[in-house]
Amino acid sequence: MKKKITEAALILKKSRFTTAFTGAGISVESGIPPFRGGDGLWSKYDPSVLDISRFLADPAGSWVVINEIFYDFFNSAKPNKAHLVLSRMEKEGMLGRIITQNIDNLHQEAGSHMVYEFHGNSKNLRCLHCRREYLAGQISIDHLPPTCRECGGILKPDFVFFGESIPQMPLAAAYEAATISDVFLIIGTTGEVMPANQIPLMAKEYGATIIEINPEPSLYTNKVTDIFLKGKATEIMGKLEDLLFSPTLDNDQDGVD
Ligand code: NAD
Repeated sequence: MKKKITEAALILKKSRFTTAFTGAGISVESGIPPFRGGDGLWSKYDPSVLDISRFLADPAGSWVVINEIFYDFFNSAKPNKAHLVLSRMEKEGMLGRIITQNIDNLHQEAGSHMVYEFHGNSKNLRCLHCRREYLAGQISIDHLPPTCRECGGILKPDFVFFGESIPQMPLAAAYEAATISDVFLIIGTTGEVMPANQIPLMAKEYGATIIEINPEPSLYTNKVTDIFLKGKATEIMGKLEDLLFSPTLDNDQDGVD
């Protein structure tokens, strides 16, 4: 493993433009469960609660579950080592962009600036009638669904529900990243969610080296991944940080397993 991490660090250090592509797994060690897997949210909740047609038909019922799933966990979560290392890499000119599927705001809280949220952000609520935007913390959820102070319309979390389209800006940023990146660093995603899952495949087609961090193989691992670093995001990113910011990295090429 040491050899693989050293190899990955050398590739990252030499890269002209690196994009990190992150999924729910990077936030698991911040206390936010992923959707899939044994302890995943879908083992407890019906995924259709995030279906836009269900929300529109029964906003109050959907809000009860959405509140329990997202706002209970998200409010207390803090960025972990993996988010912080990505932020440090950006500051040191080693990371050009983060494309995240997450809606938890933890990359921004870690200090990253070039963050493109493919599925929006749970911190914002939007009025379905007048489109006015609110911060989730400013709105009382004593009565569900919460409503707009201006027009009384129903407020919806401003993240992408099943059946909704991806916002233009992150979509364009993700496609551009796929075409210009030398390296794609995939962290904590199964690669099952369309169309986000296409971005690393596109990057590979455009010649990017794919480095992947995950405790389990994903749909990418045997298909496009060049270096698979098996393990938890905090553990592997901590090791990568040590190497990336070590003055002797270039002499470490003979690291042994
Ligand atoms: P997923 O739930 O399908 O899969 C999570 C992945 O993370 C798995 O591959 C798992 O092996 C891996 N993982 C588990 N623990 C890990 C760890 N400690 N370190 C690194 N990886 C770990 O997640 P997904 O592929 O991102 O897709 C699901 C969708 O879920 C996304 O579109 C996202 O919007 C949404 N989601 C977001 C959050 C969040 O914002 N934190 C949480 C749950 C779901």
